[in-house]
Amino acid sequence: MSRSPDAQRMEKIVSLCKRRGFVFQSSEIYGGLNGCWDYGPLGVELKRNLKNYWWHVMVHERDDVVGMDGSILMNRAVWKASGHEDTFSDPMVDCRSCKARLRADQVIERKGVRQCPNCGGKDLTEPRPFNLMFMTYVGATEDESSITYLRPETAQSIFVQFKNVLEVSRKKLPFGIAQIGKAFRNEINPRNFTFRSREFEQMELEYFCRAEEGMKLLDYWLEERLKFYQNIGISREKLHARTVPDEERAFYSKGTYDIEYDFPFGWQELEGVAYRTDYDLSQHQNASGKSLEYFDEETKQRFVPHVVEPSAGVDRTVLALICEAYSEDEAPDEKGEMETRLVLRFHPRMAPIKCGVFPLLKNKEPLVAKAKEIIDLLRPHLTVFYDESGAIGRRYRRQDEIGTPFGVTVDFETLGEKDAALCDTVTLRERDSMKQERVAINDLAAILASRIS
Ligand code: ATP
Repeated sequence: MSRSPDAQRMEKIVSLCKRRGFVFQSSEIYGGLNGCWDYGPLGVELKRNLKNYWWHVMVHERDDVVGMDGSILMNRAVWKASGHEDTFSDPMVDCRSCKARLRADQVIERKGVRQCPNCGGKDLTEPRPFNLMFMTYVGATEDESSITYLRPETAQSIFVQFKNVLEVSRKKLPFGIAQIGKAFRNEINPRNFTFRSREFEQMELEYFCRAEEGMKLLDYWLEERLKFYQNIGISREKLHARTVPDEERAFYSKGTYDIEYDFPFGWQELEGVAYRTDYDLSQHQNASGKSLEYFDEETKQRFVPHVVEPSAGVDRTVLALICEAYSEDEAPDEKGEMETRLVLRFHPRMAPIKCGVFPLLKNKEPLVAKAKEIIDLLRPHLTVFYDESGAIGRRYRRQDEIGTPFGVTVDFETLGEKDAALCDTVTLRERDSMKQERVAINDLAAILASRIS
């Protein structure tokens, strides 16, 4: 059976990610570890650009949000109070024929008979809850009293630090606490490359408010978050806000949207935006016996705030950025013949490397020296890459493939050898249009900065 164009596209993306150093399999030389991934030199830059931009927009640009960075291990009592210890589970089915462990919703049903999607076997167990948290022991003794879990979400440390952060920041409602950090879930079937991993990162905001503001703020945050995705280069047509129906929503949530992206493997969740009422703070207040109330100085009322939570996945968004950017077009090769060009059309803001710098010939010392001067000039402002090997067209292609939006070529005109007026000017090439323009070296940093932001 031939693979669908979407499956082929996904295969090409995965292979490009490995070939160019975006994403590697974790522990690859030992056969890997399912559901875990390492980001290589380009992947880490892309991921960092995303996290920095999220932090910039969600924390630095706002007066009503502060940040925090909580620990991954927390007191087990947190996970009892939050409900994770009892209910953070997926129903799971075992196939007795091929021993596959499946999520109950992946079991296929033919003529009313349940079948294993792997081997077609019909001898399946009844669904059983499987807790997705990784359990561990803290300290030297491995007994019931030392059990805790790797956090399955970052949000809980925000809730349990609510009072401390409120006191030190002296914010008034509505206000938010933001956090970016690792989360761990022992997913039954990690799949679709990095999309469903066992170790991943989240970018979460808990935006505390009064009960009467909850529904309005839910819609406000949905719009803000949709804008965010467009500002990092994801087109609106590939984004979808799904209203999560009553039966799928957590019982305490009064409204939830899933922001979904059209991946090559289908529409899938990038982010959840949920109005969680006062459930989280109330649970921790009741379980800890410590007040998590807010005192309203104007009305002299004390109450537990409600919360709206936009919770996004770093790894899923990185994958969406790569899927969105991946494209193939036609461009002339060295001999002027058309060839397929692979381009990652990243938004300049997200691109791991912003500008490539190339001396036309590597054996002409003055060209090399000038190119290196330009590298030194640009490096304090943006990520640059110096490349002198191979024909210039090849060097452009290598940068196109990793999504570098700009390329600067130093040629004999730069040295003033052909026309004195062109001395200290370079060719600036734009990745998507492949258009070239002549600009003064002195203007380069400012031109690039204005096109990147
Ligand atoms: P799903 O239904 O896909 O398992 P979820 O609804 O359980 O996701 P949330 O608990 O709302 O996810 O977590 C918030 C965000 O964290 C998700 O929108 C996603 O971007 C990210 N995330 C959750 N689980 C994973 C995972 N296993 N791998 C990568 N990212 C994840």
